[in-house]
This record gives sequence, structure tokens and C-alpha cells, in this order.
Amino acid sequence: MEIHFLGAAQQVTGSCYFIKVAGLRLLVDCGLYQERAFLERNWAPFPIPPESIDFVLLTHTHLDHSGLLPKLAREGYRNPILMTPATGDLLPIVLIDAAELQEEDAAYKKKRHKNEGRRSRYPEVPLYRVKDAEKVTRLIKPIPYEKSTVLGPDVSVRFHEAGHILGSAAIEVIAHPGKDPFRMVFSGDLGQWDKALIRDPALLERAQAVVMESTYGDRDHEDPADIETRLSQIITETVRGGGNILIPVFAVERAQELMFHLSRLVRKNLIPSMPIFLDSPMATDVTDVFLRHPECLDRETLDLFRSGQSPFQFPGLKYVRSREDSKEINGLRTPHIVMAGSGMCTGGRIKHHLVNNIGRAESTILFVGYQAEGTLGRQIIERPPQVRIFGQQRLLRARVEQMQSFSGHADRRALLRWLDHFQPPPSTLFLTHGEKKVIHRLAESLGLERDLDVVVPGYRDTHTF
Ligand SMILES: [Zn+2]
Ligand SMILES: [Zn+2]
Repeated sequence: MEIHFLGAAQQVTGSCYFIKVAGLRLLVDCGLYQERAFLERNWAPFPIPPESIDFVLLTHTHLDHSGLLPKLAREGYRNPILMTPATGDLLPIVLIDAAELQEEDAAYKKKRHKNEGRRSRYPEVPLYRVKDAEKVTRLIKPIPYEKSTVLGPDVSVRFHEAGHILGSAAIEVIAHPGKDPFRMVFSGDLGQWDKALIRDPALLERAQAVVMESTYGDRDHEDPADIETRLSQIITETVRGGGNILIPVFAVERAQELMFHLSRLVRKNLIPSMPIFLDSPMATDVTDVFLRHPECLDRETLDLFRSGQSPFQFPGLKYVRSREDSKEINGLRTPHIVMAGSGMCTGGRIKHHLVNNIGRAESTILFVGYQAEGTLGRQIIERPPQVRIFGQQRLLRARVEQMQSFSGHADRRALLRWLDHFQPPPSTLFLTHGEKKVIHRLAESLGLERDLDVVVPGYRDTHTF
């Protein structure tokens, strides 16, 4: 078996691994680069000719794992893309939205640069179009969790719950399953135990090689039990001061998790009653997918549905689809909560809400998700006096809060819990999907504490077993 690290190597985004195993050529994930320093790689030709790949295995729908699939399909990939059924339902929503954003961005940039008479660093054409995303949806092949699927005479794969977002999976690739199996496990992105809505990560026992994410490998999250206390405190204080609460959300998972917590706060009267907008057609569609996949939900959530207390329907909550209804929110003079995408403020309706609130000291911008380096979200967290939105500098007067306990990613403790379940420990552990400093800190401590061969691969490094 041979593995090539084609992304998420000493960085968080662009997850992509190429493996050659028993005569098959597989790609695990095909993610978009989102850190500013690496954006150019999105435009570069694929290191592996797309038409030469036999199967793509997809861990989950986040764009840093799936966001280059439309480009792969456009450039000649025609074979199946294997994923869990929930991921199969989410993927078209996510990729068509991404393609629409690409098209809009390119058109907008072209217009702005023409007006300003300057040239762009990147081409003013979209990275891919909606029709390319549609090509991907025709290749989706859903595989139920835990079902062993044969890819060739000597290779099979299995998807295990990763507990990160709806449909997320760790992927086990088994070479020579019959006689002398060699197992390689890709963690994908792992979630925290006991988080809202979805099941906990599945624990695996056997693997010779493991590729593990390291996003929060150097720290532990706040106690999740405090989520609702902190949330109600921030909301109540802001409302008392007459401000609005803006929450940039990823349409997949974080929006639904927030609704879960808000529904509880509203039903227990722990926050003032007010309009709560989910201003995102995409998050609304995603919420419908949650309802179609009870097999991914945990017992607590299923019990809520059974008792008629849906976390996705509660007093005050409004789903906003049309642009007109979204614009109407701006005219609202009483305090309200707006959840809108994109999660890192790099596009989407949240930018318009930011324009309307960022200069108001009484409003709060509440971050509940990871903010990659170089994104508008990360900039706002760093609290400069001004930030640039839609080509204009704007004063940052709003209160900025960040809640890390929401993280969809396992913290250090959870990563170790997952890793330590392999018995015997994997002979090689590759650490990926983490910022350089974080990943090296984790590698160092694991190398010292455990009898493991820890490798921190660089971009395009290869390893043969
Ligand atoms: Zn993810
Ligand atoms: Zn990721």
C-alpha cells in the first residue's frame, strides 16, 4: 500500500489522500483549500490524473473535504464516490451552494475590478460551476455505516460513525481482507462525545496505520455542559442593551446544534422571547435531511422528537428562504437573533448582517465555529479597529464573543480516547488536518507518551507499507 498526502498536511483544509492498494487507485476526500496562503492550490491541476482514479471515498460534506469534487468531475473523474447515505443526501445541497457562490464571487469580482481598474491575483472565472457540481451528484454511491463493501478482489472498505456532523465517517480501508489483512483507518474529522443531536464516534480496535485529524490536538474544550448557560448569558445581556445577536453558522450541523440549544432555552424561558431567524435556505434544506436520517441521531434527540419537542420547531424560530425576507430582517428595530452562513464569514448572507451590526456597540457577533487563518471571521475575532467587508473598511464596535465548546472537532482528550482504543496501537500514526504548531505539539507529546511511530507528513509526501 502506498499513500500520498495531497492536502491537510500541516494545515487544516484541503483534505485529500491518494492510495494505491492491490491494483486499485483510491482517493480519500477531495477538499477545498480555505486558508488564504494556500488558495492557489485550488486552481492548480490535480497531482493525480482524475480519470485514473477508481473510487473516491468521502468522509463528510464539509468543503475542506468535499469542495474540489466538482473540479475532479469536470476534469474527467467518472467513477463512484462512496459515502454514507446521510452524506449522500447532504452533498448535492452543499456542492451546488458552493458552486453558486463560486459563480457569484467570480461575477462580483469581475465587476469590481473593472470598476476599480485593477487586476486580480486569481482568475475571474469560477473555480467550478453548478453544472460541475451536478456531475458529482450523479456519481454518489451510498454505503450504510458498518457495512463491509468490496471494491476489488483484494480491497474492501467500511464506514464508521465519526460523530462530527450528520453522516460523517471514519473510513477503514482493508487490503487483503481474507488472508493477511492490512488496515488503514482515516479518522476524517472526529467529533466530541455527548454532543447534541448526533451519535458519538465509533471506537475501532484494529489498524496498522491511522491517519488522524489534529485540529484541536493541543487543547481541551470548555465543558460542554456550560454551553446553554453561556449562550443564555450572552443573549440576555445583548437583548437588555437593545442589540442583536449575529451568529455565523455552517449550514450543516452547527445551525441545527444551535437550534437544539436555543429550543431548550426558549422552552425553559431562559432567554427573552424574540424572533430567531435561521436566515439560510441551505441550512433549512439541511435541517430536512436531519429529519430523514434518524439512524444518525442519538437517543436523547430521538426522545425529544417522540415527545413532540422538536429541536427544529419552537416559539420564535423562523426559517428564512427568500432574499426579500432576509432584507426585511434589517428593518427590524427590536432585538433578534440571526443565524446565517457562511460559518467563517467568507460569503453568504451573514456579510450583509455584519454590515448592519458591526458598527453597533450594543450588538454581539457570536462565533460558535472554527475560524481559519485569513478568513473574515478570524479577523473579527482578533478585533482590529476596522475590517473590510464588500470592499469597504468598517468600524468594529460590536461585542465579539467566541464559544469553543461548540466545536464539532474532538479536543485533545477525545482524540486520545479514539486513538487509544486501537489495540495493539497502530504501528504508524500520521497526523494531519491541523495548524503547523498544533500538529507538531501533538506529535511531540504522543511520541513521548506512547510507543508510536508518529509521522507529520508534508504536502505531497508519500509513504509505502
Ligand atoms: Zn469537518
Ligand atoms: Zn475538516
